[in-house]
Amino acid sequence: MLHPGAVIGMVGGGQLGRMSAMAAARLGYLVHVFSPETDGPAAQVAARNTVAAYDDLSALRAFADAVDVVTFEFENLPAASLELLERCKPVRPGAKILSISQDRTLEKRFLNDAGIATAPWAKVESLAELEAAVARIGLPAVLKTTRLGYDGKGQAMLRAPEDLAPAFERLSPKPLVLEGFVDFGMEVSVMVARGLNGEVVAFDTVENRHKHHILDLTIAPAPLGPDPLARAQSIARLVAERLELVGLMGVEMFVTAKGDLVVNEIAPRPHNSGHWTMDACPCGQFEMHIRAVAGLPLPPALRHSDAVMKNLIGPDDMALWPQILATPGLIPHHYGKAQARPGRKMGHFNRLFPKGALPGELGIADALALTPKS
Ligand code: AMP
Repeated sequence: MLHPGAVIGMVGGGQLGRMSAMAAARLGYLVHVFSPETDGPAAQVAARNTVAAYDDLSALRAFADAVDVVTFEFENLPAASLELLERCKPVRPGAKILSISQDRTLEKRFLNDAGIATAPWAKVESLAELEAAVARIGLPAVLKTTRLGYDGKGQAMLRAPEDLAPAFERLSPKPLVLEGFVDFGMEVSVMVARGLNGEVVAFDTVENRHKHHILDLTIAPAPLGPDPLARAQSIARLVAERLELVGLMGVEMFVTAKGDLVVNEIAPRPHNSGHWTMDACPCGQFEMHIRAVAGLPLPPALRHSDAVMKNLIGPDDMALWPQILATPGLIPHHYGKAQARPGRKMGHFNRLFPKGALPGELGIADALALTPKS
């Protein structure tokens, strides 16, 4: 168990690192950020910073020497960098989990081996393999890079046979993975944490709605019956246990029309779909993450309120910032990014409701409406 004053090394300098560092400071820890970016969202609030490339092994060695434990908010770290860190200091979650989550085929194989459903899938290294995979899985289907994809980047929808060749050419790096299209009714996720002693806690299952492939709204709890809510929790717990996770992870799932749950992705770090916990839970995802990494006891992942989280993306949403601040009931979170480029996650706000009083569709729209400019 780390004592106050200990140093947590954070690889990655974005908003997830920023909010983790703020939670760590509240528990008395110092955070040392390692990121290629000067003055990024995490660096602004961290006690110490190293600005270097993720494959700069000598900078990583010096960083490891200066911290007590290493965690990350950025998943696409080169394997050699991770191995070096793991030789020097405890890395939580560990390199094995990261390598599984970095590669969609390893991820799906791990999930299927654990008896967890995914979309039907096939690894694709050539156009001939893609044609064979489509013959087996059918259309529509989604072709994705196995590595380095996020927010819908690195993927293509295949609707007709003539879509195959251009999509295969366009997507890189290869190999690719073909996934059957899941005709889902809802996307949900569960944030789950596992401590050093193996205890597991899971936040309530939430609904996620996307716009242009980027998360727009999270609704907590997801408006589903008790059975799918509980099954989503069991799946997330099973994933954390099978991976022997120490830390926090997000498990994203599709709910089909029949009510079946199909896992889309796992992310072994705090997750955008967990931002509602910052205000609706006594111990939110970032504190839970830091507690797990620091070897502290994990409190139950209680939720005291229902909540809606709205992401603020790019210049259009940030133009609303003054109105967001002027609207009673909205709890704003700004990531400190200087430039609001289109598609960039700039901040979010949470709106709380008494537990059990989450409004329906129209009520949610009303609740997110801003006070008009005077
Ligand atoms: P991903 O990058 O895998 O998280 O995918 C981004 C988004 O694309 C998901 O949140 C879904 O809305 C959609 N998507 C991805 N894979 C599939 C699939 N196999 N079937 C249907 N929709 C998908």
